[in-house]
Amino acid sequence: MNEVRALVETAIEAAALASQVCRSVQQRTVLKGVDQAKTGDEPVTIADYASQALILRAIAARFPRVAILSEEASSHLRDQQSAESLEEVRALVADVLGERVGHETLCDWIDHQGDRSNPLCLAIDPIDGTKGFLRREQYAIAVGVLDRGEPVGGVLACPNLPVDGERPDGPRGAIFHAVKGEGAFQRPLDLKGGDRRIRVAPTTDPAKVRVLCSVESSHGDPRVITDLIAELRFGGGPVRIDSQVKYAVLARGGAEVYLRPRSKPSWRDNVWDHAAGVAIAREAGGRATDQDGARLDFSCAQRLENNRGVLTTNSALHDSIVDALRRIESRA
Ligand code: AMP
Ligand code: MG
Repeated sequence: MNEVRALVETAIEAAALASQVCRSVQQRTVLKGVDQAKTGDEPVTIADYASQALILRAIAARFPRVAILSEEASSHLRDQQSAESLEEVRALVADVLGERVGHETLCDWIDHQGDRSNPLCLAIDPIDGTKGFLRREQYAIAVGVLDRGEPVGGVLACPNLPVDGERPDGPRGAIFHAVKGEGAFQRPLDLKGGDRRIRVAPTTDPAKVRVLCSVESSHGDPRVITDLIAELRFGGGPVRIDSQVKYAVLARGGAEVYLRPRSKPSWRDNVWDHAAGVAIAREAGGRATDQDGARLDFSCAQRLENNRGVLTTNSALHDSIVDALRRIESRA
């Protein structure tokens, strides 16, 4: 097994455990963010910290030198006012592992960074789409593998996604994964079953094209989506889903386009919001660039500094969408 595949398999196991924690937190009657005032716009919950701890515990044990780029840090949890949250996170992690875990060990896992100079890097979002998680809708546990800034592997655990896109009321929970050159796959969330190979939908008939976008309108200018749908007469409509679950849906043929227009001139997308999804969508036959058709540059550490928005498609539609976006903008 090559190193990227071994990393992906370790991430799959950890993400499956993290999914159990997320589901148990989501079943609580009161679901709230921790220290929201301190962390700015984006909410963070005890499940975000527990998920990151579980993923980095597994990675630190098997791949201690791989560089880590991850969304959360334990600093807020270590504050005196957060003692209750810290204890809740510790109990969640100890419970799912079935072993004793101390506060210090927990914080060390959350803060594990590996060797920052290693060209192999994991981009981790322990709960991508925390707003969807709080609404009890879609969210993903995301681990992307970057080699010198190129996405070469990805894992997306999607605990709330219907296993079969054709049966929206059927059972939920799937893990999507890919390694460059090996294809993209869907595995049961409980890991009790094999992989199913997934492919993007070859659809080019405009009447049938579905466009994935954020639920949160502040995460990507919704006018650009509406204008694109009108310009190319796409008939499948916008499909609003939180998090990188959008990439999983596209990769298994549940939609043809995921457009994330830059939300405001100053915004640069986080690497951990795209690395896993892009790796999986590409291995499923998709194409990913920015909204101008330029190569995605994951090499700038935390953010896609050199890109404007992100556009992922089933490949077949890509060039015509980039052209249409250019026309729309030139008219504005
Ligand atoms: P989504 O669920 O697709 O709307 O994306 C969730 C991600 O949006 C979060 O993980 C944030 O990193 C990211 N995000 C937060 N604020 C913004 C913003 N103003 N523009 C674009 N993305 C954002
Ligand atoms: Mg995120």
